Amino acid sequence: MAAKTPRLLTNAAAPLFERNQPSNWAKRPLPSHALASTDGQRLAGPKAVDAPPSCYHFLFPPPLYAQFEDALDIDTATATQLASKPLNISQELVDPNAMDVVAKLKQAGYQAWLVGGCVRDLLLGTSPKDFDVATNATPEQVRSLFRRSRMVGRRFKIAHVRYGRDVIEVSTFRKAPAGNVKTNGNGVILRDNAYGTLDEDAFRRDFTVNALYYDPHEELILDYVGGIEDIKRRRLKFIGEARERLVEDPVRLLRAIRFQAKLGFALDAAITEDAAAITVRLQDIPSARLFDEFSKMFLTGYAANAWHLLERTPIAKALFPNTPAQDPLVPLAMLNTDRRIAIGRPVTAGFLLAVLLWADYGARVKALSSTGGMGLPEASLVAAHEALLAQRRIIALPRRHFGFITDIWRLQRLLEERRPRRVAKLLQHAKFRAAYDFLLLRTEAGLLDANLADWWTAVQKAPADCQAEMIAALKQPGGRRSGGKRRHRHR
Ligand code: ATP
Ligand code: MG
Repeated sequence: MAAKTPRLLTNAAAPLFERNQPSNWAKRPLPSHALASTDGQRLAGPKAVDAPPSCYHFLFPPPLYAQFEDALDIDTATATQLASKPLNISQELVDPNAMDVVAKLKQAGYQAWLVGGCVRDLLLGTSPKDFDVATNATPEQVRSLFRRSRMVGRRFKIAHVRYGRDVIEVSTFRKAPAGNVKTNGNGVILRDNAYGTLDEDAFRRDFTVNALYYDPHEELILDYVGGIEDIKRRRLKFIGEARERLVEDPVRLLRAIRFQAKLGFALDAAITEDAAAITVRLQDIPSARLFDEFSKMFLTGYAANAWHLLERTPIAKALFPNTPAQDPLVPLAMLNTDRRIAIGRPVTAGFLLAVLLWADYGARVKALSSTGGMGLPEASLVAAHEALLAQRRIIALPRRHFGFITDIWRLQRLLEERRPRRVAKLLQHAKFRAAYDFLLLRTEAGLLDANLADWWTAVQKAPADCQAEMIAALKQPGGRRSGGKRRHRHR
């Protein structure tokens, strides 16, 4: 692709963010740690090139630069250096633990930068969900520097440094994949552990807005790929050629939709052009990784947006083949999840999967109990197991959620039946609250008579004597139950 001449990144003349003073380009040289190679050797310092203004720094001398260009087939080696202060990065939003990791790595003689989503979010003035650090220390070196750390990942080995419940992810600079990378037959990268230098690391990242490096002590940002400009223009663009980047890692399509949902940025048209073909390739992705993506997509506060976008692509069907199109429960559950997160209430992947698979579960119960001749309790258990296993082949929901989901589903029938002798026991059931929330959702979606949910709302709040009366009132003369509908369809 691209011409092989050095390309100047972003436009220095334009202020990046309206509120800022016109010039936020740093005039000072890069800090020394930005100029060392992965093995600690110092490379040549910033090289002055004729035409560009002093704000552009070339990290590498031409021979090395040319070498990268050939390997990556992209323009490399220009980094724009910006002072972070005029960009209004609020230091208060920076996790002190992340600052600590960067400081310790630098003290030990390594390069260390905050990178990725945290820098992007800081520039947008929002509080980052987590902090990632990029360094030239290997995971083993990080591990030996921080007592409370461990190595994780196979496809992508990184170190997790722990501060109580806070985890800082420290990844070693990597190269963009070259010819020798391990891929499956379809070109999907299976291992991405070829370490590289800072600028190589920038170009192997996914979106331009995710490839900014921030030194919180020097208050300096490095931009190799025009990420600042794209943040300013609120657009998501892959670094390099969209199709190649998607073939290399189809999960990036999910990430594109996730960031679109989270940031409200426009997607570069090239990203969606091949969506159908890339979606097919999602079947090559290990189900455990897709579970991670599922959690990031739906359990971080913008699930409703994400589902809205996903439903318009073939991805929803590929990831959730047994969820009916336009299922009214799903968007409501996503919205509900976002609201809970906003007020600090816990959310679980299990509840959302229970929603996404509810229709499938219902259909299976029906089939097993009618044509299969099973009693309802047995049919419920078998149906739950089958529905969960079918989904698990695509998204590896941990098995610990199985019991929770099965209980939510099983309890729906019991809540609908309201057998007087069971009410007290149901109210005490460990999963009652989750099952009741599920019942409310079905009611909100118009799938159940509202009287039923109202009754369960009231009975929970009622003092003991009133509760007893409410339960007694369920019995009609002759032992028949009253109130609400006895049998509801599952949906
Ligand atoms: P979030 O705010 O959701 O954490 P993020 O951009 O930090 O967003 P992470 O999944 O935490 O996303 O990844 C951290 C960084 O690692 C990204 O910003 C990106 O630079 C890089 N990255 C993550 N996944 C990929 C990928 N599949 N391909 C290339 N780079 C990736
Ligand atoms: Mg992150």
